[in-house]
Amino acid sequence: MSDCIFCKIAQGTIPSEIAYEDDELIAFKDIQPLAPVHLVIIPKIHLRSLNDVKPENEGLIGHLFGVIKRLAEEFGVAESGYRVVTNTGTDGGQVVGHLHFHLIGGQALNARIG
Ligand code: 5GP
Ligand code: ZN
Repeated sequence: MSDCIFCKIAQGTIPSEIAYEDDELIAFKDIQPLAPVHLVIIPKIHLRSLNDVKPENEGLIGHLFGVIKRLAEEFGVAESGYRVVTNTGTDGGQVVGHLHFHLIGGQALNARIG
């Protein structure tokens, strides 16, 4: 989508600190990190949120979680622990309308949700 920030990051037209990339996915450092490790992992195709995921995208989402697991190891938080979050819609706190997953760790996180 032409006016989508994350599509532009996926296309390389907006620079980002890329942690991982393949044909289907890209992972980059969040511009306003909430913790020492804060990556954003997105599919390259424009899906607005988890609500847009269809059965044909489920292989992609499975692949994405495999990549998240490997990034947690690579960034040294697999053993200490981390959180994976996808904010969905207004009440979910989603700001960028392109499906994305936050990988957050590197410190003890507040257990409270919301
Ligand atoms: P949301 O609230 O939609 O789940 O999270 C969007 C995330 O994207 C936020 O944590 C925000 O800091 C991050 N973000 C927004 N714009 C950019 C950008 O241009 N570059 C990077 N690297 N992160 C961004
Ligand atoms: Zn997009």
